Amino acid sequence: MILELKKIFLNENESLSTHEEMEFSDMRENFRKPVSVDISVRNRAGLVIFGAEAKFTYSADCDRCAVFTEKDYAFKFSHILVTELSDESSDDYIQAPDYKLDTVSLLRDDILLELPSKFLCKESCKGLCPKCGKNLNEGKCSCSEKETDPRLAVLKQLLSE
Ligand SMILES: [Zn+2]
Ligand SMILES: [Zn+2]
Repeated sequence: MILELKKIFLNENESLSTHEEMEFSDMRENFRKPVSVDISVRNRAGLVIFGAEAKFTYSADCDRCAVFTEKDYAFKFSHILVTELSDESSDDYIQAPDYKLDTVSLLRDDILLELPSKFLCKESCKGLCPKCGKNLNEGKCSCSEKETDPRLAVLKQLLSE
């Protein structure tokens, strides 16, 4: 959705709040249900502050054991909005050209940055056996029992931690 913010930019203490159900059309695999977002924008002494709270379910295969997993997240974001970026502007500044802000594109970037780089079914996920491919969350495979070299056993222990 495009938020029209001219009134906010031009009037101190002006504010708005709105609710959006967002779809990230290129990522339907991961965001199967709309992302629910509460948005507020306010002008504090000439500084336009954007705040958002996004709640959503993220769906993907676990990066370790490849089991399909769905997790609920709630993230909060805030940005300072400017109509033009100057040289001194930092990364925290978001441009709203012509007082217009594309909330879907902004929050899509925010959410993707905030999601963990490794998506796991659970923090303690044991992953798959590199030899037989068994899901080690479901129990040990016979590969580990055949291991006799104690140095390798130590190495395995380290790798699994
Ligand atoms: Zn897993
Ligand atoms: Zn195995």
